[in-house]
Amino acid sequence: MPKPLIAGNWKMNGVSSSLAEVEKLISGLEVSPESVDVLLCPPATLLDRMTAMCEDSMVQTGAQDCHYNASGAHTGDISVDMISDAGGQFVIVGHSERRTDHGETSEIVKSKAMAVLDGGLTPIICIGETLEQREAGKTLDVLDEQISASIPEGVSGNEFVVAYEPVWAIGTGLTPEIADIDAAHTFMRSKLKELGVPEFANVRLLYGGSVKPGNASEIMAVTEVNGALVGGASLTAKDFLGIVHAV
Ligand code: PEP
Repeated sequence: MPKPLIAGNWKMNGVSSSLAEVEKLISGLEVSPESVDVLLCPPATLLDRMTAMCEDSMVQTGAQDCHYNASGAHTGDISVDMISDAGGQFVIVGHSERRTDHGETSEIVKSKAMAVLDGGLTPIICIGETLEQREAGKTLDVLDEQISASIPEGVSGNEFVVAYEPVWAIGTGLTPEIADIDAAHTFMRSKLKELGVPEFANVRLLYGGSVKPGNASEIMAVTEVNGALVGGASLTAKDFLGIVHAV
């Protein structure tokens, strides 16, 4: 069984004063680093400072996005090297908000994942269906297309993470039925095998979309769920700790 990963995505939230929550998180953790990985992905402006705060703790840090080029004329973007320099170890790529707000295709997401891997960091590759696609019965087709097109060829299952995030569940308080999460995650694992991903059994498959302390244990108990990608509930130490402690 892959070691669970609980990853927090602060999105476009957080200023200096928000770092007080990180102190509370670190002091409130009652888990061993052998049993679970804990990650926070703050906005880029806080990454350096958050990493410094987490140095002597089990909390790891990462970024929410990166450019696929190593450097150059890309105003407003950040490179993997910059993230690494600021102490980040993971990079979320292909979050549905990036796919929607910035028109990122699976091909772009794949290029970003390759850049992350080239820079020695771990990509968290996000996939998930819209409500329209779900209602049309196309959930597994969408996951099939996004997994096939977003994951770089030849990469070992030890080197990347996949997050299944139904778009309609993100930030809405809605979650799929447990049986639907189970079906999606079972499908993803079999797809990774079919694609010939080396060490496919080691890929950490996260569920994301309105994970809260109250529903985390049930979701985390699903066989092929190896952790969670958490948005809103990662902003406060109390809620995030409730999720970490549910693993
Ligand atoms: C997310 O941002 O990836 C997410 C899952 O958000 P939330 O937990 O708020 O639904």
